[in-house]
Amino acid sequence: MGDNRFVIQKHAASRLHYDFRLELNGVLKSWAIPKGPSIDPDVKRLAVQVEDHPLEYGSFEGTIPEGEYGGGTVMLWDRGSWKPEENDPVGSLTQGTLKFTLKGKRLRGGWALVRMKGPRNEEGKSWLLIKERDDDSQPGAAERFLKKYTTSISTGRTMDEIRDHAPKHPARNRQERA
Ligand code: MN
Repeated sequence: MGDNRFVIQKHAASRLHYDFRLELNGVLKSWAIPKGPSIDPDVKRLAVQVEDHPLEYGSFEGTIPEGEYGGGTVMLWDRGSWKPEENDPVGSLTQGTLKFTLKGKRLRGGWALVRMKGPRNEEGKSWLLIKERDDDSQPGAAERFLKKYTTSISTGRTMDEIRDHAPKHPARNRQERA
């Protein structure tokens, strides 16, 4: 299969998290990552699988009204394409290990989603998102990396600016990795 889209939306819901979404068979497979993705291979991040989302949602940035499901501000934090390492990603997800490559503006290179084992994960919703060791990993940089990128990949706005309907700020994204 060819390249599909991926998107990460930073979401200031009742608890801040990052929604990690991979296009697969016409939907966005989705995981909520409370602490955000880590580019340090030694720092594995809990990724709780949530319901599939429609492809259209992958371009949403704005504010969901309080009281509605997911109420809070949503930022397009990264986007690009992804490619599974194996040619049967549905089977890989069923088996509980999906290895893949990301080509985004902020996240790149090899990654893996691994379903956690054990009695506390009976429903199978708890996964770990793990960076592979490669040219795009940065040991020790997990927190620094997230603090560095605080603006929308799409509009250059901060979370507060999105919430306040501020205009786009494209100049801010010139510092991004190509
Ligand atoms: Mn969310």
